Amino acid sequence: MISIKSKYEIELMREAGRISNLALWTAGNAIKPGITTLELDQIAEEVIRANGAIPNFKGYDGFPGTICASVNHVLVHGIPSSKTVLKFGDIITIDTGAIYKGYNGDNAYTFVVGDVPERTHRLLEVTHEALYVGLAQVKPGAHLSDISHAIGEYAYKHGYSVPYDYTGHGIGTDMHEDPSIPNYGEAGHGVILKEGMCLAIEPMIHAGKPQTRVMSDGWTVISKDKSLTAHYEHSIVVTADGYEILTQSKENREWENKMSSR
Ligand code: MG
Repeated sequence: MISIKSKYEIELMREAGRISNLALWTAGNAIKPGITTLELDQIAEEVIRANGAIPNFKGYDGFPGTICASVNHVLVHGIPSSKTVLKFGDIITIDTGAIYKGYNGDNAYTFVVGDVPERTHRLLEVTHEALYVGLAQVKPGAHLSDISHAIGEYAYKHGYSVPYDYTGHGIGTDMHEDPSIPNYGEAGHGVILKEGMCLAIEPMIHAGKPQTRVMSDGWTVISKDKSLTAHYEHSIVVTADGYEILTQSKENREWENKMSSR
């Protein structure tokens, strides 16, 4: 069942989203060659707790981190570690979220460490654009699969693939609620969007083939062909005439614009 949030619940979702995004970008701004993903994890956790919230990833099905730190060909669910030291030329996706007064935020962004070749910038750019191409479909009366279709087609058009087995999702008092939102598919199917639905939309794109593999730690998901992967996510609410991004603040919008234009 897909819940419709009240005005008051959306207020709480907005605050959960703001804190989630602040944690994401505070950790993101600390990225530099030589820093470990565990240090980034600690930065994010500190921000979440200092804002009166709780990290929602930590302990989720036993996940040990506040962030998922997914480097290069790691698609999602990389475990933060003192042994994972970022190097110049890496890319890293930070995915993190907070629970505020029982409501969840969830967001992700792929950052570059130092600088990367043009072809890597292109993958990041296309994946970031795919998020907004998907969001542009969101309005009451649209089909959920319109979002999926738009994201998938945008990736394919640029010669990339999307993994089949990881998706976006509804969000609210649970981090993962109905519906699940694949990043591919035909338009015009499934759930009809309604005002007050809260969704986490998250294009994941592989530079190579779509197949994935879970590593022996039970968490880390990689592209099977070890091609580079990118991933961007916002939590949003469906409004009367479109959508509002919940995981955003003025500062973070400026940061996002600055990073995106590099
Ligand atoms: Mg998510």
